Amino acid sequence: MEIAVIGGGISGLTAAYHLQQKLAADNVIRVYEAERQVGGVIRSDRLLGMVVEGGPDTLFVKEDWLREWISELKLDSDIVYPRPGIKSAWRITTEGESTGPSSTDQGITFREGMAQLPKRLAEKLKGKIKLGSTITLLQPDVETTGFKIHRDRRIYLADAVVLATPAPIARRLMAGWQPTWARELDTIGHRPRALVVGLYAKDAIPERLYQHSGFWNGPGTPWLMDACTVLSRKWQYPDDGTYVALRTFWGAHPPVDVRTWSDEDMMRHHGQELNDLAGVKADPVVSTIYRWNQALPQIDLDQQQRIADWRQTLLRLYPNLAIVGAFMGGVGVASCIKDAMTAAEQLAQWIIHQPGRPVSVPPGS
Ligand SMILES: Cc1cc2nc3c(=O)[nH]c(=O)nc-3n(C[C@H](O)[C@H](O)[C@H](O)COP(=O)(O)OP(=O)(O)OC[C@H]3O[C@@H](n4cnc5c(N)ncnc54)[C@H](O)[C@@H]3O)c2cc1C
Repeated sequence: MEIAVIGGGISGLTAAYHLQQKLAADNVIRVYEAERQVGGVIRSDRLLGMVVEGGPDTLFVKEDWLREWISELKLDSDIVYPRPGIKSAWRITTEGESTGPSSTDQGITFREGMAQLPKRLAEKLKGKIKLGSTITLLQPDVETTGFKIHRDRRIYLADAVVLATPAPIARRLMAGWQPTWARELDTIGHRPRALVVGLYAKDAIPERLYQHSGFWNGPGTPWLMDACTVLSRKWQYPDDGTYVALRTFWGAHPPVDVRTWSDEDMMRHHGQELNDLAGVKADPVVSTIYRWNQALPQIDLDQQQRIADWRQTLLRLYPNLAIVGAFMGGVGVASCIKDAMTAAEQLAQWIIHQPGRPVSVPPGS
């Protein structure tokens, strides 16, 4: 069978890997990823040799299955733990300041940053990932009961599909034949977010900030920043401590719309509020900006239930279509992994129990 996975973020890669583990090798799995790299919002880079994160910096490992999975991927020796003795982030609210709960309880990351996880999955899926492949339409194919996948004015056929894109893309791909589902997906809000990561000389960091993993700024205060993480102090990354990596988050508090801020605006707010809130007076030695417009879906409990019901309805109609991602099973990386595994398992069972289905035309490379 031909199985197409649309989206090479952690959800799509986990589903593809799980299918690869469960299915016989004569099934063809292809992951179509729009970008030139895998991982989606999981984005780790190096600045002056230091690990910096443009997306998540913490994998919460609260359950044994996730520890076992990390071992299966042979990532145990690359695990990085929170630095002992670092105090948890303090909170700034309209009421004043308080000590926040420890945000890194049961949290880990990796030696090369969080992106080591999707990169390892990509290694395991060697030859099955097509980068720079934007899918523009997904349609049921009445003749084969599979799906037509449109890309670059070409149409590929797949017997089964895992759709693992953010909600607005899933909506666009399916709106023509699932208008009610599309309307439901329209109700999911996404506040665009931006992050600034800067490296600072160690002596430019005030002692209080140096001793904490960062701080949070709640809504309603005079400041616009959402939070600041002292990345290189929070984690025991292997670096020599010459620089300290600070990263600030923007966009959660209305009326901030980071899409209207230029990079210069971002850097101005970053410098000004780091000074106001934590006494950082120096400029960063080097900095970088990350922008996410469709990350972090905002879903209330009612929506969550309706979306879950819809998934079940769709699954009854199309047992060969698995829809996964942060808007389905929860925003955290661990939730995305779990949801993708469950959906892939269901799909694998469907595939395994298909009697003698013909393998469809493999897509051209
Ligand atoms: C700034 C930030 C910080 C976060 N911090 C944490 C944290 O510390 N801990 C935590 O647990 N979670 C955190 N999260 C949440 C978590 O990172 C995400 O919810 C999760 O990584 C989403 O993964 P995904 O695969 O579902 O989606 P994505 O990562 O969005 O992946 C979707 C993929 O689909 C691809 N795609 C889109 N359209 C198409 C198309 N038409 N054709 C082909 N491919 C397409 C995209 O390029 C992308 O690679 C954070 C998120 C953000 C944005």
